[in-house]
Amino acid sequence: MSILTFKGGVHPYDGKELTKDGQVVEYNPKGEIAIALSQHIGAPATPIVKAGDEVKVGQKIAEASGFISANIHSSVSGTVKKIEPRLMANGGKVNCIIIENDGKYEEVEIKKPKPLSELSKAEIRELVKEAGVVGMGGACFPTNVKLSPKNENDIDFVIVNGAECEPYLTSDYHRMMEQPEILIEGLKVSLTLFEKAKGIIAIEDNKPEAIKKLKELVKDEPRIEVKQLYTKYPQGAERMLIYACTGRKINSSMLPADAGCVVDNVDTMFAIYDAVIEGKPLIQRIMTITGDAINKPQNFLVRIGTNQSELIEAAGGFKEEPEKIISGGPMMGFAMSSTDVPIQKGSSSLLCLIKDPVSAVEESNCINCGRCVDACPENLLPSRLAKVARQGNMEEFEKLNGLECCECGSCSYICPAKRNLTQSIKSMRKDVLASKKKK
Ligand code: SF4
Ligand code: SF4
Repeated sequence: MSILTFKGGVHPYDGKELTKDGQVVEYNPKGEIAIALSQHIGAPATPIVKAGDEVKVGQKIAEASGFISANIHSSVSGTVKKIEPRLMANGGKVNCIIIENDGKYEEVEIKKPKPLSELSKAEIRELVKEAGVVGMGGACFPTNVKLSPKNENDIDFVIVNGAECEPYLTSDYHRMMEQPEILIEGLKVSLTLFEKAKGIIAIEDNKPEAIKKLKELVKDEPRIEVKQLYTKYPQGAERMLIYACTGRKINSSMLPADAGCVVDNVDTMFAIYDAVIEGKPLIQRIMTITGDAINKPQNFLVRIGTNQSELIEAAGGFKEEPEKIISGGPMMGFAMSSTDVPIQKGSSSLLCLIKDPVSAVEESNCINCGRCVDACPENLLPSRLAKVARQGNMEEFEKLNGLECCECGSCSYICPAKRNLTQSIKSMRKDVLASKKKK
């Protein structure tokens, strides 16, 4: 089998050995939970419960408030205490429904949908919407919208993103190893919407066991193929993944559907399966709790709204006080000021590091070595872009195609002068996009 890839990229230490082995452990929260009304791209959901209401597991507690929005369901049974802003992992505050968990986990009655073969496409999309499914790789785009491109006949590929190229993360790997049949069933549900499309399960070649297992399971599935990707960061970024799997290119102003592709991550495929086959809403996800500061790094099946501090305790607490805690992976995640924040649908990992690899080094002058250019998967000139970004030169930034940056962090990672290129480019991108919106 050929090994697919893209130009550029880097090879950071992957840290996956910390949590690759062992089984996923289900964790049930102890105290109150905080379920954010905005944990997806688009308009925040509108609460449909109030203080004092009793709720059950799986009950809808907030409704999508627009085309790009998502329903929210309770992950515990108990009493709604209040609705108030709470701190999130990214440092911002978001309105949350606070529920006193009664620890009984009483479930709302769930009506199992009709068999897949009897469901219309509209019914499938409605079930995905009703279940509040969003992209769980971090983007959190409502999945029913993604599954409704302008012309469904133009979709040639439904790609399952099993690359999991971010260092330290192993939640997708565990899903693929522990429940591969459900992943395949979720993909089959998506393929029902696109009759012309082929299904691709794309996995980096540092997960040979998962590749072997899934290849065996799809050997008699004419519409599904497992593709092996070269292990290189950011192989799982949407544009790089599409290029590696299909040879098609997209830019920042295009959607995957413009290249005939729909891309969903592994956990999202599970949520699609649960929604359409079981009629269950999205209330749980797998999260990797890891890093050298954690006593027992591992993966947990967690309920949305659980406080992240509880998971650190469940993983044996800190071995040593971490200098840095990151929500997500080390390349694209963000530093957290507090772990007293709830898990959201897009929370993939909590990474706790004894030493902060960034604060320990100081930037020095660019030596024009060109390594950032070689590493950039978007063929950009990161050193030039960072320079014009620091000068605040929006016009030049756009001329140099700065908006095409996917903020992967490869340039900063590879730079021997430890220049904080990504941060400068990222801030400027934000400013340029904001100024375009204003106009
Ligand atoms: S310029 Fe952007 S896309 Fe290129 S390596 Fe840096 S962060 Fe990644
Ligand atoms: S990698 Fe760093 S030192 Fe080398 S050209 Fe880029 S910014 Fe300059």
